Amino acid sequence: MSYVFRESRMQWGDRRYHSLDYEMKQIYGNKVYKISLNGGMSCPNRDGTLDSRGCIFCSEGGSGDFASSSCKTINDQIEDAKLLVAGKLSKDPNDHKFIAYFQAYTNTYGPMDYLHKIFYEAINHPDVVILSIATRPDCLGDDVLDLLAKLNRIKPVWIELGLQTIHEDTARYLRRGYPLPVFDSAVHKLHSIGISVIVHAILGLPGENKENVLQTIDYISSLPIQGVKLQLLHILKGTDLGLEYENGFIPEVLSLDEYIDYVISCLEHLPEHIIIHRITGDGPKRLLLAPLWSSNKKLVLNKIHQTMKERDTWQGKYDTSHHEL
Ligand code: SF4
Repeated sequence: MSYVFRESRMQWGDRRYHSLDYEMKQIYGNKVYKISLNGGMSCPNRDGTLDSRGCIFCSEGGSGDFASSSCKTINDQIEDAKLLVAGKLSKDPNDHKFIAYFQAYTNTYGPMDYLHKIFYEAINHPDVVILSIATRPDCLGDDVLDLLAKLNRIKPVWIELGLQTIHEDTARYLRRGYPLPVFDSAVHKLHSIGISVIVHAILGLPGENKENVLQTIDYISSLPIQGVKLQLLHILKGTDLGLEYENGFIPEVLSLDEYIDYVISCLEHLPEHIIIHRITGDGPKRLLLAPLWSSNKKLVLNKIHQTMKERDTWQGKYDTSHHEL
């Protein structure tokens, strides 16, 4: 494969990639904190509708292990979360801005009147500037899309979709539960109603090499999406993937150096306009089986930044996508 080499040497603040932090500071003037909210949802991949076991890597928290308790109202969850970051906030309350993030399980998988209630409660909170909703592409029916379009007229709405990989054999192993065309169609429908889409991709999936990962990234790059989360595969206790690992069926996981190389290559392939929401994992340390080096998030981030400088590289350097904007 040959790549176009771009001469622009882009910088976004002190980073060589278009980080979410940078983007938020450009728009809102200061840091915008993400508040993880729990709408008490389930997932069709867990409740027996598609499967009862969930994705092979998914822990009990439904990939939302840091989210708040669903027993509390959305307003109370927001106020609790604000207290947690109170020490980091500026003295001027006008600077306090938050992304309300519905993280745990599948957050458009519920009765419409309930979705309406929790999303309006979140978006109408005066300190919330963006509503971000993690869900599955097969849980975005017309009624949900109508609701999202209405919410998007109040404040920006982001939808986060866990694609993980474009490779169907890996997707089947993961028990993702939907084929690629379902994802593709959801992205285009969301784009047609003006919703920003953030795509999650997992690096280090069993059976996938760097070329496979870059094929996923090149596909993502061609879509009309606004953000990407690059996530190392975390093998967690209590998951089926964890069991496979403990029983010796996953002999190898990515080393730190391999992960750095994968992430930087992904960034080089991603177009400059795509906002990078994450370049490390963020799993619960108490459940982590492997790779153990990933628990030192600061070290991983520093090493990515340092290596990008040493290689004199940047996001979009090898972007050959013909992306739809
Ligand atoms: S779709 Fe999300 S919440 Fe559902 S099983 Fe998979 S990772 Fe877990």
